[in-house]
Amino acid sequence: MSDTLAPVRPGRLIIGGEAVDAASGATFTTTNPATDEPITTVAEAGPEDVDRAVKAARAAFEGPWAKLKPIDRSRVLWKLGDLVLEHADELARLETLDNGKPIFESRLVDIDMVARCFQYFSGWSTKLAGQTTAVNPALFTYTLREPVGVVGAIIPWNFPMIMVAWKAAPALAAGNTVVLKPAELTPLTAIRIGELALEAGLPPGVLNIVPGKGRVAGEALVKHPGVDKISFTGSTEVGRHLMRTASDTLKKLTLELGGKSPNIVFADADLDAALKGATAGIYYGKGEVCGAGSRLLVERAIHDEFVGRLVERAKKLAPADPLDPKTRLGSLVSRTQMERVLGYVEAGVQEGAQLAAGGKAQPVNGKGAFVQATVLTGVDNRMRVAQEEIFGPVLAVIPFDGVDDALAKANDVPYGLASGVWTRDVKKAHTVARRLAAGTVWVNMYGFYDPGMPFGGVKGSGFGRDLGEACLHDVTQVKGVWLNLE
Ligand code: NDP
Repeated sequence: MSDTLAPVRPGRLIIGGEAVDAASGATFTTTNPATDEPITTVAEAGPEDVDRAVKAARAAFEGPWAKLKPIDRSRVLWKLGDLVLEHADELARLETLDNGKPIFESRLVDIDMVARCFQYFSGWSTKLAGQTTAVNPALFTYTLREPVGVVGAIIPWNFPMIMVAWKAAPALAAGNTVVLKPAELTPLTAIRIGELALEAGLPPGVLNIVPGKGRVAGEALVKHPGVDKISFTGSTEVGRHLMRTASDTLKKLTLELGGKSPNIVFADADLDAALKGATAGIYYGKGEVCGAGSRLLVERAIHDEFVGRLVERAKKLAPADPLDPKTRLGSLVSRTQMERVLGYVEAGVQEGAQLAAGGKAQPVNGKGAFVQATVLTGVDNRMRVAQEEIFGPVLAVIPFDGVDDALAKANDVPYGLASGVWTRDVKKAHTVARRLAAGTVWVNMYGFYDPGMPFGGVKGSGFGRDLGEACLHDVTQVKGVWLNLE
């Protein structure tokens, strides 16, 4: 049997360079949402395991990791990127089994992002520097840019392996050590990357993986006095809770909390390109994407024709087996998520929106948490489907009249993560980009990410940044050194 078809091994915790069982011996089962079948069992970390992981991370931070030259940190992280590429088929299959996303996405898009992320940040290890400052000729004053220490990473289920890379790569490149808790629904690729990191030569304790429940293992990580910073991606509700909990130990925080991102199509846009961008902007990743273009704002002059074409496209996008390379719409991550999404569709119709496409569950081979590509038209920006994050393949279409109306509607939500603008008018593009309350603006494109570009939000979408040079400020701190020359 080839490696990619082999049964999935039970997952264990990675603590201090070893794969171990939970101290309590507890395990949980992770399930394939596309077939409702169990995939394997996974060790379930409790507070005792988290404590062990934090101590291992602290020992590594003060020991072998601190002693390594930046160029050697860089080499290990680059090697990890290579190993991700070497194990691409295995990792992509694990991701698709655990999450329900099309293998097309996990194999061709996610793997590349994970590898590039480790390799991009490996380059930063040798480039983080302090400054000499001009204070007084009688003094020698300079700054040191230092790692914050032990970083606790808590990640969601929508991009499980990408999130490992987004959180761990910059933190490790800057000399921190990491304890990472994957989402209970999707722990498998995080564990495998933890194993590959050891194979790449990461010293024991530098990257620890503690799968378990958010309310137990996650909570223990946030409360632990030995953790210096928490980097979290997930719901606004849990983000708020973490902020309150982290205040007891005054931890630094990076919070990426989802969005309700506007994708604005002006009448003067290349409408064929905008159509593709609008469709991919919501249905890629089954719409379980924090930056999804879930509100499509369409200028009234082209509204009916554009939306007619969009509805045709949505109707052709049928959910199918995620392991089939031709599939473009997979299974939602769980039945709970499916019910939540369908509940929103119902709420939208009750509030007066029209269901123009989809709106129903559509099992594949009689199983799974599949939801049709859905379009709600005639949406008012005050409706719940326009204000709340649905996190599924549901597009809310909102008409607008001119730039000011587009911006007023675009910014009138509690979130501010991403946004899109489609226009051939350069002045309009830049003006709108400046006035959008969002951490990212895509012009004549939607949903592109790169390790070199920062990603994060404003308002209810949180604060701090993943990726780009910007995120390195969040995983380092500055020390001022004063030397008296007299
Ligand atoms: P959560 O915010 O609950 O989960 C995100 C991560 O936080 C998971 O690892 C989770 O662990 C952990 N967690 C949960 N509770 C705690 C806690 N008290 N202390 C520490 N860690 C905790 O998201 P959900 O899975 O509940 O999804 C609900 C909604 O959140 C979605 O429908 C979507 O709207 C939004 N969301 C946004 C994401 C984004 O990318 N911004 C990603 C995921 C969800 P565990 O899974 O084990 O409970």
